[in-house]
Amino acid sequence: VKEREKNNYQLFTSEMQHHFYRKMMIEKHLRTALENDEFELYYQPILDLKTNKLIGMESLIRWNNHILGQVRPDEFISIAEETGMIIPIGQWILKTAVKQSVSWQKEGTEPFRISINVSVKQLLDPMFVEHVKTIIENANIDPSNIILEITESIAMYAESMIEKLNRLKALGISLSMDDFGTGYSSLSYLNKYPLDSLKIDKSFVMGMHRDDENKAIVKTIIAIAKQLDLKVIAEGVEGFEEWHFLKEIDCDYAQGYYFSRPLPADDFKENWLKELN
Ligand code: C2E
Ligand code: CA
Ligand code: CA
Ligand code: CA
Repeated sequence: VKEREKNNYQLFTSEMQHHFYRKMMIEKHLRTALENDEFELYYQPILDLKTNKLIGMESLIRWNNHILGQVRPDEFISIAEETGMIIPIGQWILKTAVKQSVSWQKEGTEPFRISINVSVKQLLDPMFVEHVKTIIENANIDPSNIILEITESIAMYAESMIEKLNRLKALGISLSMDDFGTGYSSLSYLNKYPLDSLKIDKSFVMGMHRDDENKAIVKTIIAIAKQLDLKVIAEGVEGFEEWHFLKEIDCDYAQGYYFSRPLPADDFKENWLKELN
């Protein structure tokens, strides 16, 4: 028994050591990633389920570091939040996504909407609304083409946060609740926040045709959204079956590998944007 405990202990510590080491390395390299130009935004199409037409895209960050290789956002965003690096990185994301969208519009592609992920830590920054305002003004973009995707969190329940979301809305942009149905879900905030849409979390959507409970959840979310006059986007649509089911139950928009993976800007343009000339 002693021997086994010892082995478990060793396994535990070496795993923890590995975890800490990895985290430390990410932290270290995150600090110089912006100046070294190591980030790139990918774009994933969002389609209208009624018309099958492209209505917009979500920008998703990618990080390629010479030592760590490709680091997934699921791994580094939380570390960027802990260290405060999310503030400058988040500003870079906003600026880059807006600039890309304006440049595509200048090239004659149809104006459509860009969805940008925003961390709660960014929302808590007292300068955030000012930053967004400046970016919109400098880029000369119609703010109604910008959607900020926010997630539920304890911080979201504060009165001051509601006020801040109202100020963002007053700039003319739209707000979408991401990962809906997960986290600190409470239905009570839905009519307190100035939301325009909900994104059903992919954990409910992926393979839902094989899962009656997920099917029921997705249907219920759509019904609630309709009642509250919110648009619904389903993410994680991986196959024909999900697509077909979502169409049948009147979901508004869809996003997922069935249509396309997130793509680098050039590939997105080539595959999804039509020149108007
Ligand atoms: P999210 O905002 O929920 O983004 C959707 C994630 O689902 C993306 O992962 C996307 O690549 C993936 N996805 C899209 N369609 C499918 C599908 O059909 N099947 C499956 N299995 N996955 C699909 P990604 O790009 O790895 O991003 C992970 C998370 O990292 C995001 O989840 C978001 O929370 C965060 N993130 C990504 N980019 C940014 C960013 O620019 N800013 C901030 N603050 N967070 C970001
Ligand atoms: Ca998102
Ligand atoms: Ca999501
Ligand atoms: Ca997520």
